[in-house]
Amino acid sequence: MSADTALMPIPGTVDPVPVRRDAQPRADGRVELVGMPREAIRDALEKAGLDQRQARLRAKQIWHWIYNRGATDFAMMTDIAKAQQPWLAERFAITRPEVVEAQVSADGTRKWLLRTHDGHDFEMVFIPDADRGTLCVSSQVGCTLNCRFCHTGTMALVRNLDPAEIVGQVMLARDSLGEWPSAPEGRMLTNIVMMGMGEPLYNFDNVRDALRIVMDGDGLGLSKRRITLSTSGVVPMMERAGEEIGVNLAVSLHAVTKEVRDEIVPLNRKYGIDQLLAACAAYPGANNARRITFEYVMLKDKNDSDEDARELVRLIKAYQLPAKVNLIPFNPWAGAAYECSSPERIRAFSNIIFEAGISAPVRTPRGRDIDAACGQLKTAAERKRRSAAA
Ligand code: SAH
Ligand code: SF4
Repeated sequence: MSADTALMPIPGTVDPVPVRRDAQPRADGRVELVGMPREAIRDALEKAGLDQRQARLRAKQIWHWIYNRGATDFAMMTDIAKAQQPWLAERFAITRPEVVEAQVSADGTRKWLLRTHDGHDFEMVFIPDADRGTLCVSSQVGCTLNCRFCHTGTMALVRNLDPAEIVGQVMLARDSLGEWPSAPEGRMLTNIVMMGMGEPLYNFDNVRDALRIVMDGDGLGLSKRRITLSTSGVVPMMERAGEEIGVNLAVSLHAVTKEVRDEIVPLNRKYGIDQLLAACAAYPGANNARRITFEYVMLKDKNDSDEDARELVRLIKAYQLPAKVNLIPFNPWAGAAYECSSPERIRAFSNIIFEAGISAPVRTPRGRDIDAACGQLKTAAERKRRSAAA
């Protein structure tokens, strides 16, 4: 096991302690500029020795090169004096997570195995559709929450991704889609979902700071309406998420009784269904035009009865939630304790919700052949380590 693990207590199942490990400095001592707010770049340049006026100007230019042109090399920055470029390159870095492996599914879904500069692996997925392209971004390496049906939840190793690594995923996707300079028209990458590895609300500051750059009109320029953050129900952080980030909210509900949700989403033992739905009702910015999405994984004989569907409708109405339901067929993985509900069962469940006037589409699984579908993300290294240990 790597030396890092000792620094990272692995939190318990029910009451995980948010993992607060600051980003390790780069081994080469350079300061990473990706993920830094503009003012922080200016401050860093000043600290390195530029005078105030120059630092402000250079920060503006560098920011533009990073986020509008996709530059990773100071030598590209033609409006910065040639003599100053090597000085910058010695002190600062503009990098992406390292790509360990890239795979393409038969349905066009792409998955990348990425590595942080200190050697932790995580994954990112791009899902192309006719009218949009959605990037599924990770917020942590692994996850501390151990939902029973989720492969990521079985990963042992966890560290928070820092803003450079979160923004870096979006930049890397743009690199590989050839989307620099970033024009708002005709992009393939149109939407972002924080639904990769990890619980974004247990890495709140980094996710917020990263998404602010993604949403910045002079940054990556994606509208908050095209970004969705998915949480398993970290109730105390939901209001702040609405206020300080303001993106669309998805909530991994998955069950309507305490007994079943306690089992499949253990965080429910800490923040129960009523508390969670009350937090949804109070989510800033939710209204009929911007509904909250309830994700519901369909598990055979576990949470998929007509009675469950009716209870789901009752709860949504009781809390007067502007809601839609996203039914996710369970994506199997080796060793999982559950099976997916039958297509007929899923259809019947969906119909009950639709008939109550609530949208309840069934999500088409994408990229299953390359283990890129919801809940299948677990790095190959972890898979091997686990199966060797078994
Ligand atoms: N940690 C966050 C976001 C990542 S998971 C969360 O839990 O919301 C994105 C979605 O995929 C969640 O709704 C999650 O519950 C669901 N999911 C996890 N494992 C799955 C599986 N094996 N099959 C289908 N969906 C799964
Ligand atoms: Fe973590 Fe989400 Fe998986 Fe639960 S479903 S273990 S919160 S990634």
